[in-house]
Amino acid sequence: MSLRSDLLAWYDRMRRDLPWRRTRDPYAIWVSETMLQQTQVAAVLPYFERFLARFPTLADLAAAEEDAVLAAWSGLGYYRRVRHLQEGARRVMEGHGGTVPQDPAALRALPGVGPYTAGAIASIAFGREEAVLDGNVRRVLARWTADPGEGGDARFWQLARSLVAGPRPGDWNQALMELGATVCTPQAPACGRCPVPAHCRAHRSGSAADFPRARPRKPSRTVQVEVALIEREGAVLLERQGAGGPLRGKWDLPAVETGGMHALVGEAVRTALRERHGIDVLPGTLGRPASHTILNRRLRLAVVRCAWPQREPAPGSGLRWMAAGELDATPVSGATRKVLRANLVRATSSAGGRAL
Ligand code: SF4
Repeated sequence: MSLRSDLLAWYDRMRRDLPWRRTRDPYAIWVSETMLQQTQVAAVLPYFERFLARFPTLADLAAAEEDAVLAAWSGLGYYRRVRHLQEGARRVMEGHGGTVPQDPAALRALPGVGPYTAGAIASIAFGREEAVLDGNVRRVLARWTADPGEGGDARFWQLARSLVAGPRPGDWNQALMELGATVCTPQAPACGRCPVPAHCRAHRSGSAADFPRARPRKPSRTVQVEVALIEREGAVLLERQGAGGPLRGKWDLPAVETGGMHALVGEAVRTALRERHGIDVLPGTLGRPASHTILNRRLRLAVVRCAWPQREPAPGSGLRWMAAGELDATPVSGATRKVLRANLVRATSSAGGRAL
């Protein structure tokens, strides 16, 4: 038996029944691949069907209000992905008559679609012989060839391209990814359950776990952030984030990077709110701190409870009140979510049970 037929036969028997595997709709596959970037399958599962129920077609997504799209994504994080997805849907409506292009170069021209996503859509939805290379595929190929991968990804891409040529290219790519996700795992590959051990150099030399060699991690950077927690009548004040906000949601608690420079508690966020919105808040006591990691930035979040502004934020000012109970439907960052959960549930459960 050949490598291809062995792996495909195994995939046919053993593959997990995932909702995006039951469709060839390129839009649905695009959604799933976007959700799966930097996110585990288990976390994506509840979102995928809900998102498609809310925006069943590419045209629905293109025409939707951005806030509704972000709310449907709320909790998955990395909101740039869904902004790109919606922008891509709009470009497909305008430039491709609403039909997702089959050509990988045209796919890669869409925002947020890199070589991996283009290869996945082209092969899975359109049956084209286009390769994919993600962490799972890279690891499997490194082990098959006993290549530590220190020379970069070019050789793995080349190998992936040569292997995808043949029948069922979409299933081939998914089988490779499935093998990496469920059997050929990073620390302890289950070679005893592998359908293709005879084709694996690393396994034959008894050194599977040595491949690929770990890449040196980018050193992470600690960022000091001051966050204002402003409550009024069971609601908290949120600020619409620009592209450069430190917390990176659509709406967040007002926050500012301090660089550790502000000696007075609350001074940094008070100044920031005055400069950004012309409102004056009164910093009070410290709340429970939190920390949150975004890629290689470790945020240390100092939480300052502040008295609410004297006047209502003007409509369109980029500030709004969020009532208790709205958190799940509001596209806030993971950092804001952590701060609210640490500070509001505890603070309110003893006072009558309001919980976010
Ligand atoms: Fe991975 Fe082991 Fe299979 Fe090789 S034999 S592909 S190391 S699971």
